Amino acid sequence: MFIRFYIAPIGFRLLLAIGCALVGGCAMQEERSSLPVKQQLVVDQLVVHSDFHLPRNHRLINELTSRRNEIARILDIPTSDESIHVFLFDDETHFQAFMERAHPEFPGRRAFFVKSDNSLNVYAYWGPRVGDDLRHEVTHGYLHSVIPNLPIWLDEGLAEYFEIKRGKQGLNGPHIYSLSNRMRRLDWRPDLARLEALQEATEMNQMDYAESWLWVHFLLSGDEQTRKIVQNQMKQLIRLGVAEPMAESLAESIPDCESKLISHLRRLEGKSTLSDAQRPVNAIPVSDEAFSAATTQGK
Ligand SMILES: [Zn+2]
Repeated sequence: MFIRFYIAPIGFRLLLAIGCALVGGCAMQEERSSLPVKQQLVVDQLVVHSDFHLPRNHRLINELTSRRNEIARILDIPTSDESIHVFLFDDETHFQAFMERAHPEFPGRRAFFVKSDNSLNVYAYWGPRVGDDLRHEVTHGYLHSVIPNLPIWLDEGLAEYFEIKRGKQGLNGPHIYSLSNRMRRLDWRPDLARLEALQEATEMNQMDYAESWLWVHFLLSGDEQTRKIVQNQMKQLIRLGVAEPMAESLAESIPDCESKLISHLRRLEGKSTLSDAQRPVNAIPVSDEAFSAATTQGK
């Protein structure tokens, strides 16, 4: 299940400080559980830390940096120059050793985004799903660097949308597959107002992630009017820190929007291949992120 964690920033910094002290002890096991530090690659907003050589022009790095402008253009939001530190471990064992020592309260996950008062950090490891993981977590970083208090459903819906690699138009095969199946069994109906009432990732299940992605895909893939609804939401959040519920503005702008969303899902079924549907199913529950309690709103 997807769980959003809240970590007091002071505690987080303390944990990191303890980690540095342990590394100084030079024990092999402690070294294996330390942060990767041998290479630091600075590309635009990203600072990628690794213990292995990562070429500056690696296509994944290029994709991550170009996605920053893509997100800004699609959502009509500014970019920030606040650094997003990406700690990229060389393998899963090293990553898990670090997470178990520094964040024993976190369950096993493949990647995390941690926001504190003074930093935006992504933790991930180099593996078969590193592209999806980094696109997802770095999207959180780009969004949180300019938008305070992003509602959880929109935060995750956008991250699920932008984690899809170039050329796939944000199509998330497993989400299409699960939503369609549940809909056929009369086990799911869209309800944006319900999603908007969610406050924490601990309240979100896999279907909520899928539905959040579907609303985002529907709105961003539609015409100028539907994209404007998302862009206006972003502008309100940047300007005021809060926004009117999107379900209300959507109902006013797009009558019978739930039926239109379902029609959109049916059109997507034809575009999604079996391999798309099978790809990340097993990975969904283990690709999540954590946020520290960086604000007084408890987010
Ligand atoms: Zn996420």
